[in-house]
Amino acid sequence: MPPVAEDRSRSFPTPAVVRLLDTLEKPLIVADRTGNLLLVNARARHHLETQGFKETDDPNLFSDLLKVDSANIFGKVEKGEHAVNAQIGPMERRDAARIQWIPETDWLVVEIESKLETQADPTTRLTVQELLQEREITYRNLLAAYLKLQEVNRQKTVFLASAAHELKTPLAVIKGYYDLLLAGSLGRLTDKQTDILEESKESCERLVRLVSMFLNYSALESGKLVLQLRENDLRDCLDELSKRWSEVFQRKGVRFEANIDPSIATFRFDYQKVQQVAANLLDNALKHTPNGGTVMLRAAPHFWERRVAAMAPVEERRRFRLPRPNSVEVSVKDSGAGIPAEHHQEIFEDFVRVDRNTSGMGLGLAIAKRLIQAHRGKIWVESDPAGGSRFSFLLPMDQG
Ligand code: ADP
Repeated sequence: MPPVAEDRSRSFPTPAVVRLLDTLEKPLIVADRTGNLLLVNARARHHLETQGFKETDDPNLFSDLLKVDSANIFGKVEKGEHAVNAQIGPMERRDAARIQWIPETDWLVVEIESKLETQADPTTRLTVQELLQEREITYRNLLAAYLKLQEVNRQKTVFLASAAHELKTPLAVIKGYYDLLLAGSLGRLTDKQTDILEESKESCERLVRLVSMFLNYSALESGKLVLQLRENDLRDCLDELSKRWSEVFQRKGVRFEANIDPSIATFRFDYQKVQQVAANLLDNALKHTPNGGTVMLRAAPHFWERRVAAMAPVEERRRFRLPRPNSVEVSVKDSGAGIPAEHHQEIFEDFVRVDRNTSGMGLGLAIAKRLIQAHRGKIWVESDPAGGSRFSFLLPMDQG
């Protein structure tokens, strides 16, 4: 199949035009009225070869390729049909063809819609299919492994929670006896005995805090957290806590100051949960502040201007600024070792611990964050390794 049958048409395209037609993606054949092929572009040559025609063959368009009578095609195109749809190729593998007639030269232009051309190479197709299948299998395996891990994790949390729950009662009993002994109800104690008992009681209290921290965590994990929102006095909540903690700080030789603004109005919040958040922050401050350092607990009314998508212009916001604070800011500042900036976000995540020299489970801040967020508040840290840390949280006063 020569690209151009020059002897049959002297007016046929120059080699440059033939090369141009060879660049076409579509298989294209041009034939005269008798079915002699005048031009077969590169794609069409390849196509015919795949159908079993040889380079030297000179097939006739009607009898060999379309397998129809020429009158059939010309009957249609001469009646004004713009293009005739036909089939081309051997009987076992027919491809669609579109035939157009050029009246000026009396040529037929055949465009082949090759299945071969439109379909990918079967080996490639297989590979893509295989890859997709493999991806699907990997995805399913990963999902199954993930679900299994989640279930194992859930079982672990349930197990630890029930173990922690079992520890609660004996610890409360031990702590009760310490109180009884220290109050002198069971007889006078020497100074040495008092010191030892104080220390033991402190360890017991730490254990109680760890157990309750874990119980809280498992409750939060299983979505069992229900806030007891009541009209409460934050000053009472924090004063009570300060009294409990000042003794502990004193024992470690850390100066403790509490500055609770008396103007904080009552508002709806969960007394126990907020106390727990502040206790977690104080516990951390205690752990990370060396003897001779200072820890300050501060609470003050605050105007919290939440950023919203459509903000009014600054002027307008100033004009309509609420006359009274809408939240309370509570902070715990220490003069401890501080926390490098790169850990400021991750320390609020579950089980993340940066300082390995202290005890803990890496849950205190994670629980604090969830409890504060449940109150629609926010919690954050500012810290400079040279100047200690300041953990703060904001509690909105309109808890609804
Ligand atoms: P835990 O105290 O049980 O390790 P937390 O969630 O309370 O868990 O704290 C996470 C980590 O944040 C701690 O391991 C510690 O490295 C760091 N951190 C928390 N509070 C302080 C603080 N006041 N000063 C320095 N580092 C702190």
